[in-house]
Amino acid sequence: MENDKLVRLSDVIETIENQCSDGNMWGNENLTLIDARKTIDELSDIPAVDAVPVVHGHWIYKWNPYFKVELPYCSVCEKASPSISKTDYCPHCGAVMDEVTES
Ligand SMILES: [Zn+2]
Repeated sequence: MENDKLVRLSDVIETIENQCSDGNMWGNENLTLIDARKTIDELSDIPAVDAVPVVHGHWIYKWNPYFKVELPYCSVCEKASPSISKTDYCPHCGAVMDEVTES
């Protein structure tokens, strides 16, 4: 999965507001592509962090013939949890186990 770059929304708003207060953007009837390009360049300079979207899953209990017990399996990666009890996330793929299921 490709990482996304995330920035703080308040930094984006502040950058655009600074462009507006410079009188060269948005409220100006004579908006030019150069003005828009300048804003895009400034937005690109905002510090970003690498982030991966959170994957949501749930535990599915299945009979394990080797251990002769039902074990929780991850709905995302389908691997068995190393623990019989449910955990908040899958230790194999990192899925957050907060997905609501009908059953
Ligand atoms: Zn998993």
